[in-house]
Amino acid sequence: MILSDSTGLKNKAHATKLVGAGRRREWTGAVVNPPVWRASTHLYVSTKDLAEGPRRNEDGRFFYGRRGAPTQWALCDALTEIEPGAAGTVLYPSGVAAIAGVLLTLLRPGDVLLMTDNAYDPSRAMGRGLLHDLGVETRFFDPLDMSAYEALFCQKTRAVLLEAPGSLSMEVCDVPALARIAREKGAVSVLDNTWAGPLGFAALDKGVDISLMALTKHVGGHSDLMMGCASAGPELYAKLRQRAQQLGTVVSPDDASLALRGLRTLNLRLGQETASALAIAEWLSRRPEIAQVLCPMLPGSTGHEFWKRDFTGGCGLFSFTFKGGDGASRNRFIDALELFGIGYSWGGYESLALPIEPSHYRTCMAWPPRGGDPQDCHGVRLSIGLEDPNDLIADIEQALARMQGS
Ligand SMILES: *Cc1c(COP(=O)(O)O)cnc(C)c1O
Repeated sequence: MILSDSTGLKNKAHATKLVGAGRRREWTGAVVNPPVWRASTHLYVSTKDLAEGPRRNEDGRFFYGRRGAPTQWALCDALTEIEPGAAGTVLYPSGVAAIAGVLLTLLRPGDVLLMTDNAYDPSRAMGRGLLHDLGVETRFFDPLDMSAYEALFCQKTRAVLLEAPGSLSMEVCDVPALARIAREKGAVSVLDNTWAGPLGFAALDKGVDISLMALTKHVGGHSDLMMGCASAGPELYAKLRQRAQQLGTVVSPDDASLALRGLRTLNLRLGQETASALAIAEWLSRRPEIAQVLCPMLPGSTGHEFWKRDFTGGCGLFSFTFKGGDGASRNRFIDALELFGIGYSWGGYESLALPIEPSHYRTCMAWPPRGGDPQDCHGVRLSIGLEDPNDLIADIEQALARMQGS
């Protein structure tokens, strides 16, 4: 019988795990999904019971609303289930809140954080703002330059923030090697694993200490939810959990329920998106208007060999640059798209397009990447959704024609 506890899922495939994960009978009762437990107050049966409350501050025990209730616990359980090597998962009200919660757990005044130069821009802003104000210094590194990275460590380096592939420019780095060096130097490695998620990259298994992601993206999957999470082994999980409690971090049971719903179809959506994105990336790479297609699944893209070696899946998010042209022609292309929305975020069921200028968000990495022609600096990021890929290609083709005014 499924349910009860999820240990029976341990050696099962992703698709099977995603169906059973987090569905404990004591949380779901006789229905399939855990109900939305709206709760601030948890009631105790006696003052004796109450007196034991704070002492039994464990996962899956009723205490007070800030520690969650079965809807959130079921989501944590499910996320832990799909992250090999995780002892537990902490939820945060957004992906950025997860990054903040993790870094505020690890760093003290005087510490140095090494951050990959192609990190998500709000992570960079956190280094320059929040962490700087707290007396933590952030140093950026090129994750493709191992010797420069290794040389950057000092006595005060406490943590390393990685992201693979990098935001916007999509380079895949050698995460296991970068994490191993961090460990040798006595620093904690953190991976923003939003792109692949645990189904596509088993971060802890590959030597990363803390794996975080924006559930807003693929787990939510329907563009109607903001949430983040971080998973780790026993020691770091306990620290993350304690710091989240000190910060008063909570997520609503309604949102946890939506995230659980998204999780059930995650494997299917990722598989379809990956196949569609690769087909579109291949088509784009043959077009004369396009300079570079920056897609980890596409042979020849930067770090494709690491993607092939370390990843078990992809997703629908990739970028490309135009040959020459200017910002206005690039924007004409995006405005001419009919099936792509224009907006931030990604990983929803619907396709999106976004103009990108990564040079604004880089300290030491070049844009355009890989020695691309400096003229070819106008980029677009696509988030491929669940539409038919041939319709998306036809849409891109007509937008390319309209960009050129034909
Ligand atoms: C979107 C995103 C985040 C932040 O998630 P929010 O839920 O929007 O705060 C973090 N990392 C990456 C790589 C992202 O794309």
